[in-house]
Amino acid sequence: MRKHFGWFCAALVISNSFAGQAAVTSMSDINNNANSHYESEAVGLLSHYLQVDTTNPPGNEKLGAQFLASVLGKEGIQAHLFDTAPGRTCVYARLKGNGKKRAIILLNHIDVVPANAHDWKHHPFKGEIIDGEIWGRGTLDIKGFGIAQLETMLMLKRSGKVLDRDIIFLATPDEESGGEHGARVFVKNHSDLVRDAEFLLNEVGAIYTNDSGKPLYWGVDIAEKSVLWLKLTVTGEAGHASLPLPDSAPNKLVLALAKIIESPPPPHVSPVVAQSFHDIAPAMPEPMKSYLTDITASIQDPKVYAAILANKQLGAVLRNTISLTVLKSGYKTNVIPKEATAELDCRLLPATDKDQFIKEIKDTVSPFGVEVSELTWQKADASLPCSALFDAITKVAAKEQPGVPVVPIICPGFTDSHWFRDMDTICYGFAPFEVDPEHIATIHGTNERIPVRSFVQGIKFLHEIINNLAGPSDVQ
Ligand SMILES: [Zn+2]
Repeated sequence: MRKHFGWFCAALVISNSFAGQAAVTSMSDINNNANSHYESEAVGLLSHYLQVDTTNPPGNEKLGAQFLASVLGKEGIQAHLFDTAPGRTCVYARLKGNGKKRAIILLNHIDVVPANAHDWKHHPFKGEIIDGEIWGRGTLDIKGFGIAQLETMLMLKRSGKVLDRDIIFLATPDEESGGEHGARVFVKNHSDLVRDAEFLLNEVGAIYTNDSGKPLYWGVDIAEKSVLWLKLTVTGEAGHASLPLPDSAPNKLVLALAKIIESPPPPHVSPVVAQSFHDIAPAMPEPMKSYLTDITASIQDPKVYAAILANKQLGAVLRNTISLTVLKSGYKTNVIPKEATAELDCRLLPATDKDQFIKEIKDTVSPFGVEVSELTWQKADASLPCSALFDAITKVAAKEQPGVPVVPIICPGFTDSHWFRDMDTICYGFAPFEVDPEHIATIHGTNERIPVRSFVQGIKFLHEIINNLAGPSDVQ
């Protein structure tokens, strides 16, 4: 059964101060001899992986997949490669447990967005370590997390422990273009390999810090917004521009678009958004701190609502959004064209009725003769923030950073998680790296990099989370 977004869970008590220390697994895996060099090993692996250029387009993820598979193979973990398109390959490997509990998938994507070396302080594809930071496209999105997951597999294998769950490592191509040539094909052709998974841990969430590096909260992405792309088309009489036509196609389109822009979708505060904002509030400066503490009450004041929307991240999860992105009409200044088109990128909250949303757009633009057609629809969804995996994250947060809350968040973007939510897998986005606003701004931007300290600490935290979730009974 698909998890819908209308729920709220009484167990969503997410200050981690209550969590029991006793439930946290010991660090014996890390401290044993075989894993004592995990920090330098992981940094070396990430540096190497960053040098494999998997810029999408075109991707060429096969090279990255072969690298990951070779590392797993050297450790005696059999990795399988599956081509999802020419030159585009998934890596799949499974550490067998005792089968007492269902599997967890560690999911990451191999591709990265383009990077122009001229715009960077240090080369984006050399994997250099400079002043305590690892530089390169993908360090944060998301090769760093891919290597953290890989290193966790190596450490678990070396420990020799038999876990209560199978641990599945899955790296996919084409996530940055929507996964059509990656996760979609893998799930379509090989769902039997992952159907037994209860959980999936993917990208997006992180340990968010302030500018000084003080951890504010562990943000766990539990939901994403659906993607709906619409095309608006209108036709009219063509003619010479010296004889204006009030009902020309461009005029009608502009008037229709003005209506859409003037009346953006209203706010929709789901219980999870309200809880999430409430828990983020203490980490925010005033007056945002007060606004977010009770978002439902705050947005009744138009000035406060406008102030909240000015924060793009917060505003994007508070309502459905519409961005006008493509406008096309005309080819010569003195010719009134016959047709005008526009494209809208709409992002819908999980509870939204798509057909109703489209109907409202049509009702707005049809008086102008504008027709609406659907270009793309990718349905996202949510996962309940009450689960053994959420508990495991909370326990590790309580042990490692007492008092720092774990907060379920909604991602305004889109990842590969939805392909797996469709199979009823509980999917969270959480890479346990500390990130500050300066480093977050480098994702899909220039100078992407991760501090070595944050990277190796994140691996330690991930290893602890997996041990809490899947560790054999005698260590829990
Ligand atoms: Zn990503």
